Amino acid sequence: MNKEIFETKIRQLSRETYNLISAGEIVDRPCSVLKELIENSLDAGASRIDIEVESGGKHLLRVRDNGEGINREDLRLALASHATSKIRNHDDLLSVRTLGFRGEALASISAVSRFALTSNVHEEPTEGFSVKINQVAKNELFIEPSPHYRGTTVEVRDLFFNTPARKKFLRTDRTEFQKLEEVIRRLALASPFVSFSLFHNGKIVRDFPKGNSIDRIAIVFGGSFQSNCIEIEEDRSEMRTRGWIGLPTFTRGQPDQQFIFINGRFVRDKMLNHAIRQGYSDVIYQGRNPVFAIFLDIDPELVDVNVHPSKNEVRFRNSRDTHSFLKYSVSKAIEGISVRETLSRGFPGRITSPSSFPTQFDFGRVNSWQGPREDRGTAHQENELVKGVGVLGSEPLGYAIGQIHGIYILSQTAKGIVIVDTHAAHERITYERMKKSFVEDRVKSQPLLVPHSIPVTEAEANLVEDISPELQKLGLSIRRNGPGSVSVEAIPAMLSKTNVEQLVKDLFSEIIEFESSKIIEEYQDEVLSSMACHFSIRANRSLTISEMNALLRDIEETERSGQCNHGRPTWHHITLDELDTMFLRGR
Ligand code: ADP
Ligand code: MG
Repeated sequence: MNKEIFETKIRQLSRETYNLISAGEIVDRPCSVLKELIENSLDAGASRIDIEVESGGKHLLRVRDNGEGINREDLRLALASHATSKIRNHDDLLSVRTLGFRGEALASISAVSRFALTSNVHEEPTEGFSVKINQVAKNELFIEPSPHYRGTTVEVRDLFFNTPARKKFLRTDRTEFQKLEEVIRRLALASPFVSFSLFHNGKIVRDFPKGNSIDRIAIVFGGSFQSNCIEIEEDRSEMRTRGWIGLPTFTRGQPDQQFIFINGRFVRDKMLNHAIRQGYSDVIYQGRNPVFAIFLDIDPELVDVNVHPSKNEVRFRNSRDTHSFLKYSVSKAIEGISVRETLSRGFPGRITSPSSFPTQFDFGRVNSWQGPREDRGTAHQENELVKGVGVLGSEPLGYAIGQIHGIYILSQTAKGIVIVDTHAAHERITYERMKKSFVEDRVKSQPLLVPHSIPVTEAEANLVEDISPELQKLGLSIRRNGPGSVSVEAIPAMLSKTNVEQLVKDLFSEIIEFESSKIIEEYQDEVLSSMACHFSIRANRSLTISEMNALLRDIEETERSGQCNHGRPTWHHITLDELDTMFLRGR
């Protein structure tokens, strides 16, 4: 048997060390008690944690684990203030590897409840001991033998029975219970290899079996997250990210499924949230919230968890690096979502059952389509279409059949049909191309034969003067003519067919709000997006079949092509199975 077990492990922290620990009361409601108790079980290496609560945790909170237990000799110290087995001194505080480290939780909880702790470090159940407090008799501790399997059970009854002022702030059972569940969700997400069960008023309400990370996320998030997420995985010497993030089209009205963990600890952090948002930038529909569980592992010496007594906040040694790393991890994963992959998993929100689809269609079906417009294509394009049908299996988005109402492209694919929002798709493609050439610093500029003079406001004219070198980078040569006019001398070659005046006006209205002379650099994405949107094929412009096919091929090759710059989907796939169901075929 482990020798360590017979020694005391918990120590009283020195005053110097104790004074360095972020001070403050953390026990304000049942959920904060539960958080501390579960954290203790996890720190003790438990693989199973059973939680029982009554009346939203107000009457009873009981947490039982199968962790390493507490020595008989340590029971007293476990309840003492400033006593912990997790850190010894100031140095340890600089690289905390456990969830707890303040040595305060059991002391504060036991002071405001009818408290009992039973524990056993041995395999033999009869070797367990319990400790209770008699608050009436000057907080005297009673320790007595009490059978218990290896592990610990903490029972907290009648929270705040002796501090009515605090009890007054408790909400309804239901509200308190919701908060308890949220705490369990966070802790359970971070510890998939630990099973959790939750009983409320005698009924089991949650049961998370041991599993791997994605199994646990799937249970906690529920719904169709698992079929609508992608994995992120990125390594650097002192940092790594792992996790699952929802597809850009799988969003929620509330930011209620967003979880970030630093070294297994759930944290709230504006900077990290911002980084993730940016990773999703311009693929999420405005006002919608992405869904994610992201685990950032970082050298403990590079992150300070001793910021707030609730331990929910952290400070990074190098927050800029952390931000850019996280942003990069997310955006790289999103870039990697290919058309082929989206099709193979079935379109978001739908389950496509694997079936025996023909990979080739009879040409009759294709050719029998009669579009309402003349511009269905020349004889040559018809041939191209037929030729295309022969290799349907190889082009994920299939071959264009025609344009519907001048807005959508209808295409036949190996497994069904695809409907493309022409404008949305084109906008994304133009945008990605512009970003690419902008980053590579080779936006081709095309001089105008005759400079185009445009009336502007004085503020706009001044802006042009300030940012003209930056505009050059975009391929735009614009000069200030006077307080009320600018002249455009060159525009990006990519936008050569565009209405110059409209382009410049759109651009100004986009950037005038930003109030920075580094506008283009800092707001690159917004500016390019505005230009792309302006330029892209407007609804009702008719396309030839070969133009449509070219667009389909472009979508397949373009990063993030599943959504336009505003996060709207660019295409939808409907499988033959789904069509058959629609028409009640084969039933
Ligand atoms: P901290 O977790 O910050 O050390 P606590 O007051 O939460 O402080 O716990 C005090 C000590 O009691 C811990 O350091 C640990 O040694 C011991 N302890 C508490 N709960 C458990 C548990 N469930 N299993 C094993 N040891 C525990
Ligand atoms: Mg603790």
